[in-house]
Amino acid sequence: MDDKRIIFRESTLSEASQIDALRGVLSEMSLPLSAGSSVGIKLHWGEIGNKNFLPPVYAREVVNWLKAKKLKPFIFDNTVLYSGGRRDGKQALITAATHNYKEDYLGCPVRIGDGLDGKHVVDIPVSYKHFKEVQIGKIINEADGFLILSHFKGHMETGFGAAIKNLSMGFASRAQKQRMHADAKPSLNKKKCIMCGECVRVCPTGAASMAENEYPMYNLDTCIGCAQCIAMCPEVALKIIWETDIKVFQEKLVETAAAVWKIIGKKTVLITALLNIVKDCDCLPGNHRTIAQDKGFIGAYHPVTADEAAIKIVGETVINDAHPEIPWKRQFTYAREIGF
Ligand code: SF4
Ligand code: SF4
Repeated sequence: MDDKRIIFRESTLSEASQIDALRGVLSEMSLPLSAGSSVGIKLHWGEIGNKNFLPPVYAREVVNWLKAKKLKPFIFDNTVLYSGGRRDGKQALITAATHNYKEDYLGCPVRIGDGLDGKHVVDIPVSYKHFKEVQIGKIINEADGFLILSHFKGHMETGFGAAIKNLSMGFASRAQKQRMHADAKPSLNKKKCIMCGECVRVCPTGAASMAENEYPMYNLDTCIGCAQCIAMCPEVALKIIWETDIKVFQEKLVETAAAVWKIIGKKTVLITALLNIVKDCDCLPGNHRTIAQDKGFIGAYHPVTADEAAIKIVGETVINDAHPEIPWKRQFTYAREIGF
């Protein structure tokens, strides 16, 4: 597979033209997998109330393409940090079904990559500047290959979101998501805390402690900011601190994507939809402002190549105008610095 190869098919605004474009891209792509192999299709089915997520008709097309090759596809996404329609696997599956991402429509199973409880995770050792370990959904070990189906759009913290973000935040466990977003120190909302002790149980350093019949305490001197307690609190009683250096955030995003790619890169292809290009991501409820016309689909064999091509087709100024404060180009320079 050629890491630099891009296949682009333009579409008009009609769904028929967009399906044609997707079929055109797929017809030129190959997967290094033999018949009978399982393929995890990583996508984002949209937060509940979001109006701009990719409709499932494109995922169904991809499923049909894989099945025609005698492969066994399933689609998946991971749970997320914040409250809403995807905080745990059960809620996430309801949200998926609400958006018609369900087996009887798609023709394949719908799964949660980090498990229904968000604890089905694996740690990958790395040696990057920010991370020495990256925690992701265990599903990475449960498919013979992957197809990364991404929706290109704007994003308030990364400028744009597409393949790199889908691999990074998309595969990350809830704790890893928090580690990327901030050097998190827990701050307790006693009104929400039910004194279940889960934060103490998951704390890897002993910084979280709890005396009998008392609220938990957090020793911020020994806390390493791993965010495990914040991610695993069942009552969302621990405050998420979102303040971070935004350039460092771009780098952390890239490190996580690179760690995932190290494991799946040789058995993965990428499709990016340049449709519904709005200012904000599919994680937010609402109908967001369109910032560019629909363009079509691209296929690629490396996420950095895929995202650079997408930016070129959509236009840098579109992203700069939508999110002028975000140093999104750092994703590309940093990817090169770490050999991603
Ligand atoms: S996990 Fe959450 S609810 Fe449970 S004791 Fe800790 S802060 Fe309280
Ligand atoms: S952030 Fe990590 S180290 Fe700090 S209290 Fe929470 S679980 Fe413990």
